[in-house]
Amino acid sequence: MFLEKETNNTSGSGWIEVICGSMFSGKTEELIRRLNRARIAKQKVEIFKPELDKRYSEADVVSHDANAIRSIPVQSASQILFYAGDCDVVGIDEAQFFDAELTAVCNQLADMGIRVIVAGLDMDFSGKPFGPMPQLLSIAEYVSKVHAICMRCGNLAHYSFRTIASDKLVILGETESYEPLCRSCYNKATRQSDPTHKKDS
Ligand code: ZN
Repeated sequence: MFLEKETNNTSGSGWIEVICGSMFSGKTEELIRRLNRARIAKQKVEIFKPELDKRYSEADVVSHDANAIRSIPVQSASQILFYAGDCDVVGIDEAQFFDAELTAVCNQLADMGIRVIVAGLDMDFSGKPFGPMPQLLSIAEYVSKVHAICMRCGNLAHYSFRTIASDKLVILGETESYEPLCRSCYNKATRQSDPTHKKDS
């Protein structure tokens, strides 16, 4: 479990936390848990998500267990700066769908004294680092990698295997389209569905 810093921050500077992992790993639940605790501590909290993530509801960050929390959908990372000025804590969900600008935005927010908590998929369905996540993992003070359970063998899973054939990077309506798998089951499943597939080509 992530141990929070003392939140009565006198140094004037914030910091960046990243929560990453595969689908069904509990990233959003962990983000919501941290944000709720900040709220209990009477801190001003805002949550942002990219506008394209409309799977469940327009204005809520909704985790798979329907533990909803209000959020602001934004079209670009720079819009977060516009809304976040007077916040103590900023949460960003589905960070993998933002562009590279998100890295600079998170640094800027942290430099302004804001605690920034970013949650996102670290790999896409083909096992490649996803969007701005690698950069965010590098610049963050704290990184938590959370795991799902492999649907085929019960080990810890860190791949999001796509169970339907498509080359599109983003598919909405996920539960029926993805399966969390461990390395060995992912490699087996990938070989079966596409014998020519290479993870790092
Ligand atoms: Zn497995």
